[in-house]
Amino acid sequence: MENSAKKRIYLSSPTMHGEEQRFVAEAFDTNWVAPLGPNVNQFETEIAAYTGCGYAAALSAGTAAIHLGLKLLGVGEGDIVFVSSLTFSASCNPIVYEKAVPVLIDSEPDTWNMSPQALERAFEKYPHPKAVVVVHLYGTPAKLDEIMQICERHNVPILEDAAESLGSTYDGKYTGTFGRIGVFSFNGNKIITTSGGGMLVSKEEALVKEARVLSTQARDPARHYQHSKIGYNYRMSNVVAGIGRGQLMHLDEHLRLKRAIYQRYQEAFADMDEIAMNPMNPKGDANNWLSCITIEKNSKVTPDRIMDALEAENIESRPIWKPMHLQPVFAACEFFGHNEKEPSVSEDIFNRGVCLPSDIKNTDADMERVIGIVRGLFHR
Ligand SMILES: *Cc1c(COP(=O)(O)O)cnc(C)c1O
Repeated sequence: MENSAKKRIYLSSPTMHGEEQRFVAEAFDTNWVAPLGPNVNQFETEIAAYTGCGYAAALSAGTAAIHLGLKLLGVGEGDIVFVSSLTFSASCNPIVYEKAVPVLIDSEPDTWNMSPQALERAFEKYPHPKAVVVVHLYGTPAKLDEIMQICERHNVPILEDAAESLGSTYDGKYTGTFGRIGVFSFNGNKIITTSGGGMLVSKEEALVKEARVLSTQARDPARHYQHSKIGYNYRMSNVVAGIGRGQLMHLDEHLRLKRAIYQRYQEAFADMDEIAMNPMNPKGDANNWLSCITIEKNSKVTPDRIMDALEAENIESRPIWKPMHLQPVFAACEFFGHNEKEPSVSEDIFNRGVCLPSDIKNTDADMERVIGIVRGLFHR
């Protein structure tokens, strides 16, 4: 086949099933084309029932959920907030929206998530941060026992950024339900999508109720439009929530398919010392949102070479998130490393890692194509 004729293989694109359109059609038929309505309420109830998170507020984006979550935890100007460095910028940006100060925490090598050692050291220097934002990268749960113990000892709340980890479990419970506040994302490439959207969840009903108020312009309960605080236009629309309801019916299926992709790569690279899969946490089940590899140090085959070779065959891949402490915009932020070594753990993962195509519509033949190209670069 000619190169140009080769089918595109995606990193992680939306997978729709049909039920989504039924719920969207219902919204149109009943003229609930608004940021309110039965799909929004049902989607919240269904996410709460699935995850056991307690209460849920459907919002326009995961980023909006993190922003409101920080506000609900009282984060304001000058406050320090600890946050995982190895993440997408949306974990960190809302801290700056509130003029608070992000302090970036390195990863540990076992799960690639927030290092409890680095967190301890951050607390030694800053004993009173306002909140700790913990990310479950690529769907692998962080070391929650250790992190929660440290945060409890210091009496600081956790905001769990579970944007990538809907459906992942730790200790038999879903990620997103451990922090005082949890956040999910339904962005286009996440494990289920509403095209764009997010959810703020908590066991504390009062927090979730307040999130709903803040997300709808913070109106006081009065007939006239009265406001006693600053609000936002962050609510999820009833049309979009319909997509979410249809997707949620297929979350278990998506989890099975994502796991099969991870296992296929694991099997395919099992005989190669040069390649390691992104780690799992033995205390839980990851949702395997993205399957990633790291290449051994000093290998001639770099992540760039792998991504170039895949792109030449019309296959989408992606670098590991560039850590926030290496971003120009956060260069002035303080960073606590897992150990004294250079590069830091997160930088090392970034330097040596690639996210491989993890689209659940990939066929066995698609997987073979990807695997063949990667192995071929190592002359296997
Ligand atoms: C996707 C993502 C977000 C943001 O979610 P949006 O719905 O895109 O706003 C936040 N944190 C992490 C780790 C993410 O991957």
